[in-house]
Amino acid sequence: MNDEPVVLASDVRMSYGDTQVLHGVDFSVAPGEVSCIIGPSGSGKSTFLRCVNGLEPVLGGSLRVLGEQVGYSLRDGKYHAWTPKEFAAFRTRIGMVFQRFNLFAHQSALENVACAPIHVGGVPGDKARELAMEQLAQVGLADHAHKRPHQLSGGQQQRVAIARALAMNPTLMLFDEPTSALDPELVDEVLEVMKKLALDGMTMVVVTHEIGFAREVGDTLTFFDEGVVVEQGAPAELLADCKQPRTRAFLSSVL
Ligand code: ADP
Ligand code: MG
Repeated sequence: MNDEPVVLASDVRMSYGDTQVLHGVDFSVAPGEVSCIIGPSGSGKSTFLRCVNGLEPVLGGSLRVLGEQVGYSLRDGKYHAWTPKEFAAFRTRIGMVFQRFNLFAHQSALENVACAPIHVGGVPGDKARELAMEQLAQVGLADHAHKRPHQLSGGQQQRVAIARALAMNPTLMLFDEPTSALDPELVDEVLEVMKKLALDGMTMVVVTHEIGFAREVGDTLTFFDEGVVVEQGAPAELLADCKQPRTRAFLSSVL
């Protein structure tokens, strides 16, 4: 195996219409790394994750993820834009967890987790449900497999969402403020599941304001502001001694 970064962004730029949101993001994630991102609301964190996942087109610079130039394949010396099918195949290799859990309301936890393996992965139903049960056990929810989302707490729903994101055996997991919508007493159960995943060696990019998690579990901490990476380093070092005034101002507002 090579040591190619799982994510390698160089000068990534992106706009919504006339509004430029990413102004040249440089960012990389090594295999097995837990990379935490912090930054003010509106600084482009979610947009960047959506670019990594191929949900938004990059308009400048280069974005390589899982060994691919996102959106393009090189064939016969030329770049060809991906078809919707190629985008879909790429996305099965990435698990994404959102602030709002986005579970299917009319399906049980088990059905939510088994859904993509059955409908996208072509796994037979019985096998997919057996694997989904194992995924739910991994996040501590084996006893709740047959409940619908409204019968579960926010923390339990988010753990189902994590199990669902893991169901296609992704190589990379993206978390976009996974605990921001939770009542404070439910945050830790979700962070514990994420910590276990990190210890198992999963490559993770985590946008979070849980500074304690970033310090304990993160390998790197990146501060985004106004569509660029302002500062990056080992979490303990960055938190103790950041160099940029914008980072300091932000940290003093959240710590
Ligand atoms: P963050 O996740 O750091 O809070 P976002 O990536 O969500 O930031 O947003 C960055 C900027 O892009 C904000 O100014 C936001 O208003 C804008 N934006 C986000 N999504 C859209 C969209 N779908 N259309 C237009 N503008 C958007
Ligand atoms: Mg966001």
